[in-house]
Amino acid sequence: MKKIEVGILGATGMVGQRFVSLLENHPWFDLAWIAASDRSAGKKYAEACNWRLRTPMPERVAAMTVHECRPAAHSPQLLFASLDSKVAGEVEREFAQAGHVVVSNSSNYRMEADVPLLIPEVNPGHLALVRRQRKERGWKGMIVTNPNCTTVGLVMSLAPLEVTFGLEKVLMTSMQAVSGAGYPGVPTLDIMGNVIPHIANEEEKVERETHKLLGKLIDGRVQPATCVVSAHCNRVPVEDGHTETVSVSLKKKASLADLINAWRQFRSVPQERALPSAPAHPIVVREEKDRPQVRLDVETEHGMAAVVGRLRPCPVLQFKYVALSHNTIRGAAGAALLNAELMKVEGYLD
Ligand code: NAP
Repeated sequence: MKKIEVGILGATGMVGQRFVSLLENHPWFDLAWIAASDRSAGKKYAEACNWRLRTPMPERVAAMTVHECRPAAHSPQLLFASLDSKVAGEVEREFAQAGHVVVSNSSNYRMEADVPLLIPEVNPGHLALVRRQRKERGWKGMIVTNPNCTTVGLVMSLAPLEVTFGLEKVLMTSMQAVSGAGYPGVPTLDIMGNVIPHIANEEEKVERETHKLLGKLIDGRVQPATCVVSAHCNRVPVEDGHTETVSVSLKKKASLADLINAWRQFRSVPQERALPSAPAHPIVVREEKDRPQVRLDVETEHGMAAVVGRLRPCPVLQFKYVALSHNTIRGAAGAALLNAELMKVEGYLD
């Protein structure tokens, strides 16, 4: 199969670097074009980017020239976007209008009624919303989004519970890594030896995105899920990986073993279609009394799984557990890659 040429909008940032790394040796996609702000445009990637990943910057990409974020004759049709949300709205729209498929990480379009907000294991059918998007907006291209990095791990762990038992109430407290704030992110003096109990707009995003993701697509509209969701979001001095403590109450009676079975049996379209970035086990259950832990478990399934553990009864709701996911892989670049892979097998890139 001839590889599909792709580009990255915001290639120099924390998520952009993950895209560069995950696209190296991707079996379907070939990174051919990179773009960032005017500060970086015209420079070689090696010069423009402050590379923060442990794996080396791929040599081929280091020598590539960074372009401006403007549609050009040579910008590939499929673009992964990891732009600062202050500019993402306008830039992504411009590319979609010009005929590009924009697979975005930014929050700007996630809650628009005609924009798919996707976790391919959870709501692959919502991709059909792009038909309405193209019809109503008259765009030649399209925008497809993945959720906020905190929402992903939570919703992956909730999806099999919603399907099997029905969710009534969800209470989530996050401990979020500093890489979730981009680069350079939170100042050292603010975060060292500290916990910051506020991340702007994060709790609202987690609550409303969860409803959309767990909702049902009926007659071209997403009917949001009805469970009550309350999120507390905190920034902690961890490099990568968002840890979440979750309490839930369910509509149907269930035992601890029933929940574990539901998590362990959870498989969906990405696994059935063997998408290249799909984890074999989207939810990995740890039975040890002190897992999951960021340092030990964040790379599980190449950073694409939600790792859950410490399931036990909750005296306030019904059950409580801990969930962990990698914020720049499953919560960002890996999520967008999986979205594009789903779009490819569903014929949206033809
Ligand atoms: P980041 O490290 O701050 O990177 C931002 C990127 O946007 C850089 O490539 C930057 O280019 C580019 N940019 C900034 N201003 C621009 C402009 N005026 N025109 C064109 N490009 C511009 O942020 P990040 O953490 O990678 O996040 C990127 C997006 O993904 C954000 O919307 C964020 O909310 C979302 N997201 C992040 C995570 C995460 O875990 N970090 C997870 C999910 C979603 P220069 O280097 O040239 O300035």
